[in-house]
Amino acid sequence: MKTLQSLKTLDDLETSGLVTDSQRADLTAVAARYAIAITPAMAALIDPADPNDPIARQFVPDAAELVRLPEEREDPIGDGAHSPVEGIVHRYPDRVLLKAVHVCPVYCRFCFRREMVGPQGLGTLASQAMDKAFAYIADHPEIWEVILTGGDPLVLSPRRLASIMERLSAIDHVKIVRFHTRVPVVEPERVDAALIAALKASGKTTYLALHANHPRELTADARAACARLVDAGIVMVSQSVLLKGVNDDAEILATLMRAFVENRIKPYYLHHPDLAPGTSHFRLTIEEGQALVASLRGRVSGLCQPAYILDIPGGHGKAVISASTIEDKGGGCYTVSDFNGEAHAYPPESGQSRRG
Ligand code: SF4
Repeated sequence: MKTLQSLKTLDDLETSGLVTDSQRADLTAVAARYAIAITPAMAALIDPADPNDPIARQFVPDAAELVRLPEEREDPIGDGAHSPVEGIVHRYPDRVLLKAVHVCPVYCRFCFRREMVGPQGLGTLASQAMDKAFAYIADHPEIWEVILTGGDPLVLSPRRLASIMERLSAIDHVKIVRFHTRVPVVEPERVDAALIAALKASGKTTYLALHANHPRELTADARAACARLVDAGIVMVSQSVLLKGVNDDAEILATLMRAFVENRIKPYYLHHPDLAPGTSHFRLTIEEGQALVASLRGRVSGLCQPAYILDIPGGHGKAVISASTIEDKGGGCYTVSDFNGEAHAYPPESGQSRRG
């Protein structure tokens, strides 16, 4: 489907054949609560005739979003508990999040910050709040890395991004600036020379964590945008969310991780979906997630292995939740499972190898 503008309303979605008139009553309530946006690049990937289209599932609102479970939270990863000044989250000693903007080019239906992003969300950090955020970073010499997230920081104009980067360049103890973004995939045309120059304006090492969840998102245009970034010296890593009905399949995950590596993007995080309101239809059990992640071992190169991560609700940070491959047998002896599920004694003299 070719569109020139992002789809932002139920009317847009109905005109494009992505929702039907009979779905409107339920979706009106969803749209009143959570923002909608699908860029032309993502709309073009959707097959409206496929009720299980994995791209549509990520971006087209669904009546299931009205189902709220008791364990779901408006701030599922607990940003608020670690926000010393507006726009800053300081959860770990050596790094902070700088949330400069709460707008995105697309609104993911599973978003962990869905209560904060969108036209009715927290908006862009005002200039006084930005001053306080930079003062906080400058006053904390332990901050080695600043992670721009939001929202999607790459929706800011190159001029505003360059100004942020230039301010960071004046803070000696900050060595790394990392951007978390979906832009190279969902709006690849935005990745032009001006944007790339802005991303490098601090003179610090710039990392870019690309959020993509299905191999189809890595279109030729997206791959070209990533190549422009990497060629410019920006290091790219990936982050994906493990989503029921999108990528909860060993072959799809393997293809996605390989596609990242083929495009010089190191797989970094595979997130277990957070307890965001109205997102239970996307969540697998942790055991299902562990089995999928285990299936990547042996199936694809070590370069293609992301860390399977749970953000512990309440702001307690990230935990790696892959199934353990090692069992402590006591007395300094262990059994270690290989990628076929075969258990081996370690050290080898401490027991016989056996099928696990
Ligand atoms: S791009 Fe990120 S912050 Fe924006 S809606 Fe999607 S998951 Fe949320």
